[in-house]
Amino acid sequence: MLGVECYDGCRRFSFTLLAVNAEIIAVGSELLTPFRMDTNSLFLTEQINQLGVEVVLKSIVGDDLKRLVAAAQHALFRSEIVIFSGGLGPTEDDLTREAVAEALGVTLRRDEAVLASIEQRFATRGWKMSPNNAKQADVLEGAVVLPNPNGTAPGQWLSGKFDGRERIVILLPGPPHELKALFEAECRERLRSKLPPASLATRVLKVAMLGESQVDARVAPIYKRYGDVQTTILAGAGEIQLHFKSRAATMDAAQARVDEAADAVEEELDDAVYSRNGESLEQIVGYWLQMRNATLAVAESCTGGLLGERITSVGGSSRYFSGGAIVYSNTVKTDLAGVPADMIERHGAVSREVAAALAEGIRYRCESTFGIGITGVAGPTGGTPEKPVGLVFHALASDSGTEVIERNFPGDRQRIRWFATTLALDMLRKKLM
Ligand code: ATP
Ligand code: MG
Repeated sequence: MLGVECYDGCRRFSFTLLAVNAEIIAVGSELLTPFRMDTNSLFLTEQINQLGVEVVLKSIVGDDLKRLVAAAQHALFRSEIVIFSGGLGPTEDDLTREAVAEALGVTLRRDEAVLASIEQRFATRGWKMSPNNAKQADVLEGAVVLPNPNGTAPGQWLSGKFDGRERIVILLPGPPHELKALFEAECRERLRSKLPPASLATRVLKVAMLGESQVDARVAPIYKRYGDVQTTILAGAGEIQLHFKSRAATMDAAQARVDEAADAVEEELDDAVYSRNGESLEQIVGYWLQMRNATLAVAESCTGGLLGERITSVGGSSRYFSGGAIVYSNTVKTDLAGVPADMIERHGAVSREVAAALAEGIRYRCESTFGIGITGVAGPTGGTPEKPVGLVFHALASDSGTEVIERNFPGDRQRIRWFATTLALDMLRKKLM
């Protein structure tokens, strides 16, 4: 009882007040197996944050009516905005509509217009519509139907008072391409118009090739000066992300606060910060290559094409990426990247000399401004006392000479390969800047 009174006593929700919280419920038994991951909530969280609203709770619930109703009831009690993802399909186990109707105490009505559009969709494709498809036309009483440009089941939007509490309830289909398109087309602006002006500002700085504790020790004193800015450190292989979040009465005031904190951190970490607005390392490198009117070629041994994959994951990379070679065997190192056979014989394939020759050879053969060569021991086998698993040589060749960096990376094969490509990209970034 106390909890209820307290909640009602300090009710934060009103369209004119500051803090509105959101909650996401991902529906689907497959999301509770090791085979499918809930990625929809990541997309939704990003979108919601951009509207200045915090996601305070996410849950994953299997296709079970009772559990879904309970989850919906709890969410509707706690959070002003509740978004459901999935379970809007035609099959027996698609139960989101029924569960939300029960939790809200509203009925479902079959919407003739939606039904007609579903029938039309089937007819256009020459498919036979099975009777269970009709249930995708069931709409919560009072809900706005959100047309689904990429699928059959429409989304639904319901806002109003439930049990005396002002709520926005959104039902979205599970397939990610449907959910994204529908959210962008139908929900973003609708939500924005219902919310107070955004007052939650965020910033992300990304740092390459520094350790988490190293970064933490340097930024901790700065964090202390900005007690009102919420900070989080996320560490990955070769990359640290520093997240800043601040709330204030206006978006401008909140943004000014996160910017001040982020700028102070950037000054401390200097050129280790490669991204100031969330861009990836490969995007930043691509940006600088274009700015410098330069091109890049790569010769990869132990990373097996990962560097090329990362570079070409950026749209438009053909403007600056000439190409490359995966040079695993010694013969191919010689044939494709021009590494002298006797050099490999003398120093071994994993060596400073061979890395440099790979970078120079591929740069020359691809006639590019820069060449990168990577050779190392990704493991778990193949290590020796002199050349242990994790040892990688990275070379960057340009008209000003060739630079080689040697590192011993920790971790498994995947991690070592990721580290190696990150370091190579970061070498190039620093050179370009
Ligand atoms: P459908 O008409 O396809 O059945 P639906 O709205 O009922 O649509 P689900 O059955 O829950 O959606 O999910 C369909 C597929 O979409 C799932 O197999 C899964 O691959 C993907 N999916 C569902 N939910 C998520 C999620 N939260 N994150 C990522 N993918 C998801
Ligand atoms: Mg389904």
